[in-house]
Amino acid sequence: MPLTEEQKKERKREASRKYREANREKIKEANRKYREENKEKDRLRNKNYYENNREKVRERNNKYREKNKDKIKERNKNYWEANKNMRNEAKRKYREENPEKVHKSDMIGNWKHRGVIHDDYKSLYNKYMNTDYCECCGCKLTTGKPRTSTTKCLDHCHITGLFRRVICNGCNVKLPKQPKQHPQIINNININEDIS
Ligand SMILES: [Zn+2]
Repeated sequence: MPLTEEQKKERKREASRKYREANREKIKEANRKYREENKEKDRLRNKNYYENNREKVRERNNKYREKNKDKIKERNKNYWEANKNMRNEAKRKYREENPEKVHKSDMIGNWKHRGVIHDDYKSLYNKYMNTDYCECCGCKLTTGKPRTSTTKCLDHCHITGLFRRVICNGCNVKLPKQPKQHPQIINNININEDIS
């Protein structure tokens, strides 16, 4: 007895289901490839759909958000965490690849943090880098750690915040004790100023 239309359809459905089950990975890969190759087409289709069904989409999204509050919260948290790692990694890489820029921005940031005031921090940095002898005693200045009596220092006035000169650590500690810097001076400095 020949199969009825309904039986034929059922057979096709069953074969299709079996095929999908047996070729799950293959289908997944093909779908991925299709999406990759038709990105622009899909994007346009989605855009058109959204434009023609704005209210419907909005309502559906609202409903989804309401129903999946906790899930969304968790997903956002995870995303933020993942990006935090990415951001840290990018930062680490940047520091590794740009040691000179990083040194410059670290030094200037440190001076600002300590309340050193100057109208051109880039030129102050150049002055600091190009000064090889103490401007007080004339000794040959050194850099790096640990700090010694010849370590290069930036001397600034704690009352006005103004830079004075580049001197050695030995001279710096011999200077008359300065008052503790007024917090207002430190706070007035924009430590986020671009120094690239
Ligand atoms: Zn000195």
